[in-house]
Amino acid sequence: MKTRAAVMFESPGRWEIVEVDLDPPKAQEVLVKLVATGLCHSDAHYMTGDMPVHQLPLCGGHEGAGIVEAVGPGVTSVAPGDHVVLAFIPGCGRCRMCASGRQNLCDLGAHLMAGPQLDGTYRMHHEGRDVCQMVLISTFAERTVVPEFSVVKIADDVPLETVCLLGCGVGTGWGSAVNSAEVAPGDVVIVMGIGGIGINAVQGARHAGATTIVAVDPVAFKREKAQEMGATHAFDNIGDATEFVHSITNGQGADSAIVTIGVVLGEHIAQGFDAIRKGGTVVVTGVPRFDQLSIPVNPMMLVGFQKRIQGSLYGACSPSRDIPRQVEMYRAGQLKLDELITRRYTLEQINEAYDDMFAGRNIRGVIDLV
Ligand SMILES: [Zn+2]
Ligand SMILES: [Zn+2]
Repeated sequence: MKTRAAVMFESPGRWEIVEVDLDPPKAQEVLVKLVATGLCHSDAHYMTGDMPVHQLPLCGGHEGAGIVEAVGPGVTSVAPGDHVVLAFIPGCGRCRMCASGRQNLCDLGAHLMAGPQLDGTYRMHHEGRDVCQMVLISTFAERTVVPEFSVVKIADDVPLETVCLLGCGVGTGWGSAVNSAEVAPGDVVIVMGIGGIGINAVQGARHAGATTIVAVDPVAFKREKAQEMGATHAFDNIGDATEFVHSITNGQGADSAIVTIGVVLGEHIAQGFDAIRKGGTVVVTGVPRFDQLSIPVNPMMLVGFQKRIQGSLYGACSPSRDIPRQVEMYRAGQLKLDELITRRYTLEQINEAYDDMFAGRNIRGVIDLV
């Protein structure tokens, strides 16, 4: 079948809206008619060249939700008509990491940056060329074929055009606070960088009971938004935030600092490291620029103050456990999702949508695909 999709033919570059040929699902694969997709910063790394692309063309997008239209042989967990969120990390359920409750580190993650499906063949094609699929799913398309392991069935009475954000940004930010920083009641937490991830780290810190949540972002609109979503204080630079945190903790520092900057440099991690107390945690969630190979921290401080630098992938969430749980938190009014969406776009407006992200005009942009 044919489907419209946003495809990148060169990197750095822009998205082109083209018609691609989409093969039917093979064994353990699912055809999904997408309803909406969020615009995450990770795709933008290919536009700017901050992250190298192994192979082109590539259909982007990894934060989608939709309805299953067909399933390939052997699929048992979903059926046509089911509402699903596409998780950007597949969970096989049986590898060592999945079995130990760390589905975000599933061994199938080895295929995320490759391009073809798990069997090594491609489902999307354009004028005879194979089209790579972003993290196996490619949600910048009206329809896509993905592994069964990449979809999570959800209740069918919540809006897919909103819960698409659970595929990446919400879990990544929320889990960075709840799971990776292990925020506890009474904590002082710094969130560095308020985009689609940082705003959810603010929500997560609030859920976990933090008393002081300090948002840091140079853009005034983002600082205001963070305060609407639970931040108690906001600063336009980390120096002032660190000074403030020291002033309220008798000079000790924050319990945790969560780095959710769009393009992370080693010095950002060092700034978070300097802002935390003894035994505190710096969580690194934002994607570092590919040429960042060192973190300028004082190793004596690392040991003597027993500080922790913790990487966080998808906020250490397990998609098949956490996405349905987050749907219920949304339904209960505990997790704000509608408030995260600054603007909605058509697929044709995708480059404009990313321009809005680069200019700091969006917390989260969403593309409607129906
Ligand atoms: Zn993402
Ligand atoms: Zn696994």
